[in-house]
Amino acid sequence: MTDAIAPVLEALSTRFGERFSVSHALREQHGRGESHHTSAVPDAVVFAETTEEVSEIVTLCAAAGVPVIAFGAGTSLEGHLAAVNGGVSIDLSRMSEVLRVSADDLDCTVQAGVTREQLNTHLRDVGLFFPIDPGANASVGGMAATRASGTNAVRYGTMRENVLSLTVVLPSGQIIRTGGRARKSSAGYDLTRLFVGSEGTLGIITEVTLRLYGIPETISAALCSFESVEQAVAAAIAVVQLGIPVARMELMDRGLIAAVNAYSHLSLKIEDTLAFEFHGSPAGVREQVEMVAAIVEENGGKDFEWANAPEERNRLWKARHNAFYAIVSQRPNAKGWSSDVCVPVSQLGACILDTRELLRNCSVPAAILGHVGDGNYHVVFAVDPTNKQELDEVAAINSKMVEYAISVGGTSTGEHGVGTGKIKYLRKEHGDAVDLMAVIKNAIDPNGIMNPGKMLPH
Ligand SMILES: Cc1cc2nc3c(=O)[nH]c(=O)nc-3n(C[C@H](O)[C@H](O)[C@H](O)COP(=O)(O)OP(=O)(O)OC[C@H]3O[C@@H](n4cnc5c(N)ncnc54)[C@H](O)[C@@H]3O)c2cc1C
Repeated sequence: MTDAIAPVLEALSTRFGERFSVSHALREQHGRGESHHTSAVPDAVVFAETTEEVSEIVTLCAAAGVPVIAFGAGTSLEGHLAAVNGGVSIDLSRMSEVLRVSADDLDCTVQAGVTREQLNTHLRDVGLFFPIDPGANASVGGMAATRASGTNAVRYGTMRENVLSLTVVLPSGQIIRTGGRARKSSAGYDLTRLFVGSEGTLGIITEVTLRLYGIPETISAALCSFESVEQAVAAAIAVVQLGIPVARMELMDRGLIAAVNAYSHLSLKIEDTLAFEFHGSPAGVREQVEMVAAIVEENGGKDFEWANAPEERNRLWKARHNAFYAIVSQRPNAKGWSSDVCVPVSQLGACILDTRELLRNCSVPAAILGHVGDGNYHVVFAVDPTNKQELDEVAAINSKMVEYAISVGGTSTGEHGVGTGKIKYLRKEHGDAVDLMAVIKNAIDPNGIMNPGKMLPH
């Protein structure tokens, strides 16, 4: 601990009492996400309950140049939470109030610590839902900060499309709002989109206004199996290119299906699989299903299996959301390392084939899964975090996947974000635009106190 930070911690301790902690276990938990990245512990953790409290904490830290790292639910995968220069972790999980819901306007405002499951439980009784669903039960603030998406993005978009405005505490402690509730606006720079995806490096999001959707009249889900990943991907591409508005279209390779069966006690057929969900009126869903069934058949798919009862459907998607843990659980003491590339959908087949070749001699358990309707896919590896040779092997595969994706106009991260893990690819992907990002960062956070060491190359 440096001399500068001691008085700040003392002041925070006096002000926040039992909501301030220097317990090692708590700091360790706040210095890491859910992946293989090593933890870097903050000097202290403070649990904030209001925007004004966040502002107070940031103001105190800013005066002494102490780093602050926002903590939502801690489910990020690219080393986002590592306190590489120490500092104070501001835990927003107690900011868990749904502040307002408007069924007329299909929107709501929540405190940043509300989780996606909490929000959907709250909304169920009014017939609404919020569709963005990263596998983990992430916080809405963390999802905005990482520009998250999930299985529904092919139909409903990502956090980029679904955040209407934010309340943000700037590095000076000042509180701003980035917009109102209008569905569109041409007034000034789009600060909402600047903060969405900024990973806590520009400010701390304390409230989020979101778009909502009516729970569809009819929901239908189906699984179909293919003899090869190539066939499954070809079918998925055809569905996208024909503009069929599927709500979900997920690829799970046969290795993943085996892991999911074991982890979630299912008995899905162990083949390369596409999982679909259709939303709409009964006639609309029927039409989508007929078109998709024809495409699946043309591409060698078979055995359309339906999961129409809500409990059956929930079980299927819960198992899909737990896929990361299913792979990791195949090996004692393993950690998950998830790659996350996204490419134009026309390139998806070639990319996944290339990835399959890269995995052919891989010594680490791994499986391919993806939100293929968006051109976004992952390989999840179950790595031994203490085995350097293994980590190097996976790092090399990950790099090749990223380079391939960027070379065909794709991105190094479709949804997980940059954190520390993807910094080295940012210039390759964005070229000189990274310099403009650095100018923006320096203008908003001249002392570099907001989640230092993340996103931008130093
Ligand atoms: C099993 C599993 C499946 C996943 N599946 C998906 C998926 O399908 N799609 C997807 O997009 N992601 C997925 N993720 C990754 C993760 O859930 C998302 O990145 C999520 O958005 C992180 O939210 P969080 O609340 O856990 O944020 P945290 O991990 O707490 O924080 C993430 C980053 O955001 C910053 N941050 C957090 N809250 C705020 C705030 N209020 N203001 C400013 N900055 C903040 C933090 O400083 C950090 O840099 C998955 C993760 C797991 C473990």
